[in-house]
Amino acid sequence: MLLNQKYEIYPSDEQREQLDRWISYCRQAYNSALLDKQRKYKQSKESYTRFAMQKQLKLDKSKIPFLKKIPSQPLQEVFIRLDKAFVYFFRKQANYPRLKKYKDYNSITFPQFGFKPNSHHRYAASFATNGNLQLSKLGQIPIHLHRPIDGTIKQLIIKRQGTRWYAFFSVERQVYPAPINRNLVIGIDVGLDKYAVLSDGRSFDNPRFLRQTEKKLKRAQKKLSQQKRGSANYKKQVIKIRKLHEKVANQRRDTLYKWSHNLTKYYSVIAVENLNIRNMVKNKHLAKSISDAGWGMFRNMLSYKCERNGGLLIRVNPEFTTQDCSECGTRVKKSLSIRTHICKSCGTILDRDHNASLNILRKGLEQLDQMVVMD
Ligand SMILES: [Zn+2]
Repeated sequence: MLLNQKYEIYPSDEQREQLDRWISYCRQAYNSALLDKQRKYKQSKESYTRFAMQKQLKLDKSKIPFLKKIPSQPLQEVFIRLDKAFVYFFRKQANYPRLKKYKDYNSITFPQFGFKPNSHHRYAASFATNGNLQLSKLGQIPIHLHRPIDGTIKQLIIKRQGTRWYAFFSVERQVYPAPINRNLVIGIDVGLDKYAVLSDGRSFDNPRFLRQTEKKLKRAQKKLSQQKRGSANYKKQVIKIRKLHEKVANQRRDTLYKWSHNLTKYYSVIAVENLNIRNMVKNKHLAKSISDAGWGMFRNMLSYKCERNGGLLIRVNPEFTTQDCSECGTRVKKSLSIRTHICKSCGTILDRDHNASLNILRKGLEQLDQMVVMD
């Protein structure tokens, strides 16, 4: 499987500007291919393939000189991203692909790395002999290799996160699946009060340091709204807010990383809801709390960490997981404001989210049984 290893890189101011421009070229290529695809489909139901997009790019390059200032592979990789966005959409795992805004597009991918096989020719991205990262048309960037790269490098992603830059190496590594242990199973539900509730009754809540940074951020935003737009203090406050945003994002990522690490280290099978985004949007209140808390990121981390440890992440149908009684199956309708599950049939009284996580676990085990039969 492919695993990502992340390292900080230190481009010069000039290189930062250039990387920013490259990302923006890629974003433009993505958006214009998406628009072309939509238009062609509307006009003639014709599907606009990746290869047709690449052909178009070649034509564009002869007319738009700046497209030649970026290595061609990362530019072509944009169409693979667009393809993937449509695959996820057709699998109902994502919304219909939208035009990317500046903040939604933060990376470029070099689909090949190092030297071409059996030759001295470098790909557009490689290591220089002094250990720096070497990108064609850009030069060398110092990199902090705080741990060795473990495996064969398949591709390199250069990513902007806040004011910092990172190199992600996708490396190929052999993973030996462990046998599934039915006794080490857990169901997880997205909580409304707590971050997540587990089927064994435990719950995860945002750590205090994260809540404190979030509070600071809110206060800073309020202060900004009282300042005069464009003044020196206003600009200072904008920078402060950007840094706090970054801090919140980092602290959240670290927290999710720790939780998913601990869960996947211990459990063999983890069941979560297959939250179709469209379902979530039906309930705006729920949708907001989920998107705010990075639930998608958490599930991704669980997914790849499960795979890496030889475990299994099962996505179950979210229908009625909140309503049904986890003890006897009776459907107990409840609005969002009702926080406790009370079953009149069997007398079960449980926290609403705990009841849901038990249902998620049960569904996960049912699905697991079917998978075994299918083998
Ligand atoms: Zn019941």
